Amino acid sequence: MGYNQKMYGLGSKRSIIREIFEYSKTRAAEIGAENVFDFSLGNPSVPAPKEVNDTVKELLETESPVLLHGYTSAQGDAKVRQTIADSIKTRFGVDMSPNGIYMTCGAAASLSICLKAIIEKEGEEVIAFAPFFTEYRVFIENAGGTIVVSKPDPNTLSIDIADFEDKITPNTKAIIMNSPNNPSGVVYTEETVKAVCDILRKKSEEYGHVIYLIADEPYRELVYSGVDVPYLMNYYDNTLVCYSYSKSLSLPGERIGYIAVCPKMEDGQNVYLAICGAGRSLGYVCAPSLFQQVIARCINAKVDINVYRENRDLLYDNLTAYGYDCVKPDGAFYLFVKALEPDAYAFYEKAKKHEILVVPCDDFGVEGYVRIAYCVDKSRVLGALPAFKALAEEYGK
Ligand code: PLP
Repeated sequence: MGYNQKMYGLGSKRSIIREIFEYSKTRAAEIGAENVFDFSLGNPSVPAPKEVNDTVKELLETESPVLLHGYTSAQGDAKVRQTIADSIKTRFGVDMSPNGIYMTCGAAASLSICLKAIIEKEGEEVIAFAPFFTEYRVFIENAGGTIVVSKPDPNTLSIDIADFEDKITPNTKAIIMNSPNNPSGVVYTEETVKAVCDILRKKSEEYGHVIYLIADEPYRELVYSGVDVPYLMNYYDNTLVCYSYSKSLSLPGERIGYIAVCPKMEDGQNVYLAICGAGRSLGYVCAPSLFQQVIARCINAKVDINVYRENRDLLYDNLTAYGYDCVKPDGAFYLFVKALEPDAYAFYEKAKKHEILVVPCDDFGVEGYVRIAYCVDKSRVLGALPAFKALAEEYGK
């Protein structure tokens, strides 16, 4: 046919989130943007820290074009990688070396590179914990792997340890852990992390090969109520961290993040070289130079997460009072709500009639839920509350 059918399938089948996004634009043109309560996209609503914008201006005025706009090494600028390694050492006590850091265009690239670097043969399995970021399926399959879904504990939406253990086979190559989680907002506790890592060690030994732990961490800094997000390298040596500044510094369009290879990883230096090779083969070399420099200078900058916290509390408190069922999220900017009927798509259609746009989550590996992305202005949350109430009443709540 002249082109790759699998890629055609990915390109031509619009994701539900994209579909909602297009509908939202059309509807806003019809009734005014302020009357559409769009909670579909995980685009940060909080601005990047002033320090970031000031640094961009200062860099443009003071630094050489080669530093700002030229190529860096394929794996990223050495000084930038040193700064990140030092920061990991200070924050988490891991003896990180710059030679274990690979700069990337965000977590999506990090995940694709890691999977490509470790998967050796078609059909090797990668476990994802439902509910999970839908793109995992695409990234895993593109690297030749097969996704295996571990179902959550229905009460907490955290990991069901027994189910996880059942899902590991001699073909398991890696697992992906995403905490704080998209779409549930759940932060896995230290107890859960320890249980998962104990099983990984036991099974690696039993099967005589490494099972990698891929930590997908774009939401690490977005946590509320002082909960702790365990740093997975401190619990499991064969850990690859995929970090991104998309959410932590509200810079999703700048495409900047990194991979960190645990210094205690078995054969870690060679795994790092495989990461360099995977980056090369995928064309993910030399992450954006200007933003590499910005990150190095703003390594301790933070966004104001109070807006998200307020939105979370407003939505959680009111929705549960109206009769909705959801787990209180400790992090990220998502609320994962049980649809008021078994079919999440039918519920999404009914919500649409109240001008509420939420994402039905069957593709996230759990049926019967919708995701509310509350990275929006507080006024939008306040405006939507009566609509959420009316929707619940329609279901007799
Ligand atoms: N992983 C998760 C869980 C996400 O939610 C996202 C984006 O929303 C990504 C990875 C990709 O993020 P990035 O913008 O860093 O590529």
